[in-house]
Amino acid sequence: MMKCDVITLFPEIIRPVLAQSMLKRAGEKGLLDVRVHNLRDFTEDKHRTADDHPYGGGAGMVLKPEPIFRAVDAVRSQGEPVRLILTSPQGRLFTQPLAFEFSRETRRIVFICGRYEGVDERVREGLDLEEVSIGDYVLTGGELPALVMMDAAVRWVPGVLGDPESANEDSFSGALLDYPHYTRPATFRGLNIPDVLTSGNHEAIRDWRRKQALLNTLKKRPDLLNHPGRAEENRKPLKDLGKERGGKLS
Ligand code: SAM
Repeated sequence: MMKCDVITLFPEIIRPVLAQSMLKRAGEKGLLDVRVHNLRDFTEDKHRTADDHPYGGGAGMVLKPEPIFRAVDAVRSQGEPVRLILTSPQGRLFTQPLAFEFSRETRRIVFICGRYEGVDERVREGLDLEEVSIGDYVLTGGELPALVMMDAAVRWVPGVLGDPESANEDSFSGALLDYPHYTRPATFRGLNIPDVLTSGNHEAIRDWRRKQALLNTLKKRPDLLNHPGRAEENRKPLKDLGKERGGKLS
């Protein structure tokens, strides 16, 4: 079971997504527990102010430290150990290995969602947290990153996917991108599926898929094949495939 808390000014971005498809089913099966906290509930003035102008001037607003610290204190006061994640474009990049790590996390994962120019720096200084980014671009808030991370992680929680093997075969789970998938009809607008997939020969299908994954990776993300630690395990299959195709690998 993966346990998460989301601290946000916009709970209504989070809740509808949790109420659909795989995240919903994971919740219903007791494999995902998400508590959503409205940052405004941790403000103390009558306007429920969660942001303010930046010291030193300049454009935009900054999320105030007090409501964030109070929200974190409230989650901590429930007694369970927590792992604090600040969603931030400046953070460590979220990848498939981190998604897997989150799926095995026994502490509650608490996502702090920034907005506007971000959070007051004392949130970083005063809370023992990890900064995580979902990519080198800037979004308007941390809600989509929190959802992205929960979605990617929950797929690895045992019992969430119908066939647990499918996550292992996905892109980025191993050294290669996924192989191509086809479903009915066998012919569509003049496009046919590869014959091997209807041959009933499971070994030939496995072999075809392995080679297609290799070719897919070579075509779309050759950088993955040369990734340190992966280059060695890819060398032989690539050489074999090159030989088989008369040296043509594209
Ligand atoms: N001024 C900040 C900077 O340049 O580092 C960007 C603030 S951004 C407009 C507002 C909030 O969106 C951030 O505090 C963070 O919570 C979230 N955010 C934006 N891009 C993100 C990304 N790539 N990954 C994770 N969170 C992101």
